[in-house]
Amino acid sequence: MAEQGYSFFESVTKSFDKASKFTTWENGLLEQIKACNAVYQIKFPIKRDNGSIEVVEAYRVQHSQHKTPCKGGIRFSQFVNQDEVMALAALMTYKCAIVNVPFGGAKGGIKISPRNYSEFELQKITRRYTAELIKKNFIGPGIDVPAPDYGTGEREMAWIVDTYESMRPGEIDGLACVTGKPVTQGGVRGRKEATGLGVFFGVREVCKMPDIMQRLGLEVGIEGKKVVVQGLGNVGYHSAKYFRQGGAKVVAIAEWEGAIYNADGLNEEEVFQFRKTTGSLLNFPGATNIEKSTDALELECDILIPAALENVINGENAPRVKAKIIGEAANGPLTPEADAVFAEKGTLIIPDMYLNAGGVTVSYFEWLKNLSHVRYGRMEKRFSENMNKKILSTMEQMTGKEVTESDRDYIEHGASEVDLVHSGLEETMIEATHEIMNCWKQNPAIPDMRTAAYVVAINKVGTAYAELGIFP
Ligand code: GLU
Repeated sequence: MAEQGYSFFESVTKSFDKASKFTTWENGLLEQIKACNAVYQIKFPIKRDNGSIEVVEAYRVQHSQHKTPCKGGIRFSQFVNQDEVMALAALMTYKCAIVNVPFGGAKGGIKISPRNYSEFELQKITRRYTAELIKKNFIGPGIDVPAPDYGTGEREMAWIVDTYESMRPGEIDGLACVTGKPVTQGGVRGRKEATGLGVFFGVREVCKMPDIMQRLGLEVGIEGKKVVVQGLGNVGYHSAKYFRQGGAKVVAIAEWEGAIYNADGLNEEEVFQFRKTTGSLLNFPGATNIEKSTDALELECDILIPAALENVINGENAPRVKAKIIGEAANGPLTPEADAVFAEKGTLIIPDMYLNAGGVTVSYFEWLKNLSHVRYGRMEKRFSENMNKKILSTMEQMTGKEVTESDRDYIEHGASEVDLVHSGLEETMIEATHEIMNCWKQNPAIPDMRTAAYVVAINKVGTAYAELGIFP
């Protein structure tokens, strides 16, 4: 529960209601968009390595079938509960609508702290959960397609696809029952870094907008911006990496055990390796320790990237947050009370359901790849050797520079899968940014970017429901 007794799902509902006032849909239809269509709560036993039996609590929620399949990750965390999974499933619906990915929203959760289980136990839990979903038709390439989320990754997705294919032998599109798989198991190159890279593309696009930057008192462009990242999991790590590579300075990184600060900037890979070896990011060479992890959220910086869990910035600490831009890499890191504080302060909140949509965007590419049974990119030699030479020399003449290794590679071999995925993601994030900003500009009464994003999403989902009609 967030402060003032709002649950996470109520927070999402509150933001939805705030935005629906700027749409013209009738109430009943808005109620249908908001509602979670199906909530499945499961309890199943597993045998621990020490021989004892433990009952595991798990969920899968399908928020909307206005487009199918439903789509959304599975999280492993001790904080999982029905309300949280419902909120996350709803966010998936709006997220997919914003980036024009034709899926309804869903989410799954298993209430365990993965750290407390052996790999063998985790595999048993994942497989049993998958079997339960299969039994109730809550998974399938055209039904509901899970993916990684907090506490899960490629390893778990491989176990899921293997369980699915074992229980549904011969299903031709079985590989498409889950995304975020290892590349060797039908995954797509570029999925792992997709959410973090999408976060970077989204923030970079906003930082290119002179009117917004002027209002915030910041220079246009990402270069030199001071960034604080909370969370060094998959999303936090890759966000930090692309901000650093894009010319920003990641001055602090926080994890649950504490945070570290270095005004000259931190290298996420070095920090990651250090933490892996020592078990903590504290005492990282050249950095100052911040013992209380949440204090990092209040550091002086231009951009704050919360990339961990929900409700980390609330009415209590929001007044002390100094960042001018908060990019919500996590789902639901701000409570509605925090939103109100930032509206007052003029802080720009780049909302989760748009900013972290890179993951599901690339999941869509993976799903399409699995269904089409081909691999992307470099299918064949693009042009004849003579033609390649001509193109390269024309490029050199035109630019007056020698062509780069990567240009040569592209001309000679075509785009690689990862190039195609990254450029598809970049285009998607840029387009979505402008769609939301245009909606905001066209209706100056809309108070913030989150509300504008909701308006865009509600209109798209509303149109689908209205066109589909009501069965029967
Ligand atoms: N778990 C990710 C999210 O919250 C990705 C979902 C997906 O790829 O389906 O957006």
